[in-house]
Amino acid sequence: MMSLVSHIQSIIDNIEDHDYKILQYIESRMRYYQYVPIEVIEKGVKLPPGILYRSLSKLTEMKLIRRRVGSIVGYTLNYTGLDVLALKSLIRRGVIDSVGEKIGVGKESDVYIVRLTSGSLAVAKLHREGRTSFRKIKRYRGPVVNVDRKHWYYIAKLLGEREFKILAELKAYNAKVPKPIAYNRNCIVQEYIEGIELYRNINMDYDLALSVLRDIIETLKIAYTRVGIVHGDLSEYNIIVNINDNSGFIIDWPQYVYRDDDNAEYLLERDIKYILRFFEKRYSIMLDYNSVKKYIKGDSSVI
Ligand code: ADP
Ligand code: MN
Repeated sequence: MMSLVSHIQSIIDNIEDHDYKILQYIESRMRYYQYVPIEVIEKGVKLPPGILYRSLSKLTEMKLIRRRVGSIVGYTLNYTGLDVLALKSLIRRGVIDSVGEKIGVGKESDVYIVRLTSGSLAVAKLHREGRTSFRKIKRYRGPVVNVDRKHWYYIAKLLGEREFKILAELKAYNAKVPKPIAYNRNCIVQEYIEGIELYRNINMDYDLALSVLRDIIETLKIAYTRVGIVHGDLSEYNIIVNINDNSGFIIDWPQYVYRDDDNAEYLLERDIKYILRFFEKRYSIMLDYNSVKKYIKGDSSVI
């Protein structure tokens, strides 16, 4: 089996056991310190000072951690550090064999192609949530992060878990969404949908485009009536047309809301309007908004 090669894989290959131990230790103190003081790291990792200092410089140069200079020297984890911890865990668990090139840079994540130990290809999506997600997270119901923990690190991790769990629920009802494979921290490994995103203006005739739209509507209906959720960020950027069988897949679910959420109705309407408008403009397909909405909500069995 050919392992994949990439910049991120070479970073992973460069990490030695003691580097990994230090990264993990800094991560474990993130809840107590913004920058973990050097004295705390020294006591915690119990490595010879020579090795520790060399490793801290190396990890800083590789941009896995960041150093604060001043009265108290300390280190904090960067996004790349969190990515490496997550990917390395999945490699150690025997899920991933190797990490390849980035295939997509979304609004709030980096997506890599990965080779699984089983030999097949999959994608690893690494959540990197910025300010927009702070607004998003406020909408979340259920075990929301503590106010004092509203920190990028917790949000990125929470979203990895959220996306994994909701994809598993959707997939249990045969929705056309990527099959989730595993997750760790901010990283979710999911089925690779070999296809083209809808925003790339795919040339499809009316009938083909209509069948893609029907797949999307069917998935929205499963999400609403079976799982009880609304996607909340539906657009031509989050739909992939599978090139093997021309089916339409909806990706990118972590911002979902439950249907009894205050914003659910508004978001559902926005999702439907957005996608109907796109198919109307691009493929001249005109479906009645109210009928589609009733169908998705399970109030009618035909569109
Ligand atoms: P974001 O929240 O950053 O928008 P997405 O889940 O939409 O994250 O992923 C970003 C991009 O990565 C997508 O537009 C697509 O190009 C690619 N991508 C994501 N998931 C998959 C997948 N399962 N199969 C194939 N490509 C994917
Ligand atoms: Mn997206």
